[in-house]
Amino acid sequence: MSSDAVVLEAIDVHKAFGGVQAVNGTSLRAARGRITGLIGPNGAGKSTMIGLLSGALQPDRGTVRLLGQDVTHLPNWRRARLGLIRTFQVSREFGRMTVLENLMVAQTPQRGESFVLAAFAPRLWKEEEAARLEQARAILDRFQLSHLEDEYAANLSGGQKRLLEMARALMANPKILLLDEPMAGVNPTLAQELAGHIESLRDEGMTILLIEHELRLVERLCDPVVVMAQGRVLAEGTMDELRRNEEVVKAYLVG
Ligand code: ADP
Ligand code: MG
Repeated sequence: MSSDAVVLEAIDVHKAFGGVQAVNGTSLRAARGRITGLIGPNGAGKSTMIGLLSGALQPDRGTVRLLGQDVTHLPNWRRARLGLIRTFQVSREFGRMTVLENLMVAQTPQRGESFVLAAFAPRLWKEEEAARLEQARAILDRFQLSHLEDEYAANLSGGQKRLLEMARALMANPKILLLDEPMAGVNPTLAQELAGHIESLRDEGMTILLIEHELRLVERLCDPVVVMAQGRVLAEGTMDELRRNEEVVKAYLVG
């Protein structure tokens, strides 16, 4: 893989929580324009990896590189400005805000100068707000949430909250998305719909790292797939290749 095809890379990262070695020397890469799958049994260290890649967690050892830059010691908001945005295994919308407001307060790629602009350059600020509103409405339209823009987020169904979570992530104009089980707990029809959205993003050139349990969805979306177990990478390949890998089958694909 040529180096500019690698958007995000973990090199031999380690993370322990007390006595638990959650991530134990893991290296993985997310290639531009692909959906890299991350699978493995519960407790394998997948969510911890997302935390280490996004900057929510600091590794005890190892390196994280984003777009060719060493970001190991950058906090998550600095990585977000570089274009790395994550979603959470449990949705984190603001229930007492409307759907549209949830998008308007989502992470911005700008430098948080809105206050300064509002005070000293009100016209510019208004233009920026208008552009943001237009972007928010376009994203809601994309996820077919437009009719819900004035609804309180708390009143959305579980599946709609999942869509909102992705919509919020897109407000930051990400270059890479880390999605931690975005289909968890939604019905199969909606899971397929979410998968369709993830596919379209990929087709538009987005780089995605996707944690997912449902292997049929992984098969449909992900290439390559990285298998983690006990904090380490057990194997990597297409789903087809992994099915022929005895170690993977034993550790994960059955029981
Ligand atoms: P996965 O997402 O693959 O299910 P996690 O990364 O959530 O796995 O967890 C890996 C291991 O690290 C588990 O044993 C889990 O209990 C432990 N762990 C994860 N986060 C924490 C934490 N904040 N404090 C203590 N232990 C944790
Ligand atoms: Mg997890």
